[in-house]
Amino acid sequence: TLKGKTAIITGSNSGIGLGVARELARAGADVVLNSFTDTEDDHALAKALGEEFGVTGRYIKADMSKAEDCRALVEQAGRCDILVNNAGIQHVAPIDEFPLDKYNAIIAINLSSAFHTTAAALPMMRKAGWGRVVNIASAHGLTASPFKSAYVMAKHGVVGLSKVTALETAQEPITCNAICPGYVLTPLVEAQIPDTMAKYDMSREDVIKKVMLERQPSKEFATVEQLGGTAVFLCSDAAAQITGTTISVDGGWTAL
Ligand code: NAD
Repeated sequence: TLKGKTAIITGSNSGIGLGVARELARAGADVVLNSFTDTEDDHALAKALGEEFGVTGRYIKADMSKAEDCRALVEQAGRCDILVNNAGIQHVAPIDEFPLDKYNAIIAINLSSAFHTTAAALPMMRKAGWGRVVNIASAHGLTASPFKSAYVMAKHGVVGLSKVTALETAQEPITCNAICPGYVLTPLVEAQIPDTMAKYDMSREDVIKKVMLERQPSKEFATVEQLGGTAVFLCSDAAAQITGTTISVDGGWTAL
C-alpha cells in the first residue's frame, strides 16, 4: 500500500496522467494533479478523486513548459514521494517544415520538465528516505517514426534522463524508470485521427487499424488503467531493484 505517500503526477487532468493518478490513489497514495489550466473543474476533479479512494486529492496549476513552474509545483506540494513525469504534447511535421514554436514546446514540456521536477523532488525523497520517479516515455523513446522528430528526440531524452537519475540514486532507496506506452486512446491520440484521415484519405477505422495500430501487433490500444497499474507496480517493494530501465506497455510494438 502507498498509504502516507504523496504522488505528484504532471499533466494529469486527462488521459494517461489521470489514469495513473487514479491507480496511485486506489493504492492509497495522496495525489497532486497538475496541468497548465486553473479551472473549477480541475480542482473538483482532484477533490472527487481523493474522496473516491479516501485519500487527499489536490490540484496545483503549473505550466510544464516553464522551468520555474516545474520546480514550484514540487515546492508547493510540500512533499513528493512519487513523481510521475507525464505531461506531454505532440506535433507531426517533416523536419524541414517543423514549426520552431512547436519544437521548443515539445522539448520543454516532454523533456526538460522532467529534469526540473526531478531536481526539485530528489531532495524531498532523500529527506523522506524513499522515492520513486516514474517517467512516462513512449515506444517512441525506443524507436522512431517519420514526422515526429521533436517527440522522438524528447522521448529518447526522457529514457536517458531516467538512466542518469537511476545511477545518481542507485545506493539510495529511490528508483527511477521509464514506462514506454504504445498507442493509448487518449485525447492526445484522438486529436491525431482527423489529420491522419485527411492525409491518407482514410476512414477513422482504417486510420486506427492500418496506421495507428499498424506497429502494435496486439491490434489493441493499451489502456490508462494498465499504465496506472504499471506505475503502481514500480512503486511496490517488488520493484525496489528495478531501476534505470524501461517497461514497454505496447502490445508488442518494440518486439517487431
Ligand atoms: P493527453 O493530451 O490526454 O494528456 C496530456 C496532459 O498533459 C494533459 O493533462 C494536459 O493538460 C497536460 N499538459 C499539456 N501541456 C501542459 C503544460 N504545458 N503544462 C502542464 N500540463 C500540460 O495525452 P496522453 O496521451 O494522456 O499523454 C500523456 C503522456 O503519455 C505524454 O507524455 C505522451 O507523450 C505519453 N504517451 C502517450 C501515448 C498515447 O498513445 N496516448 C503513447 C505513448 C506516450
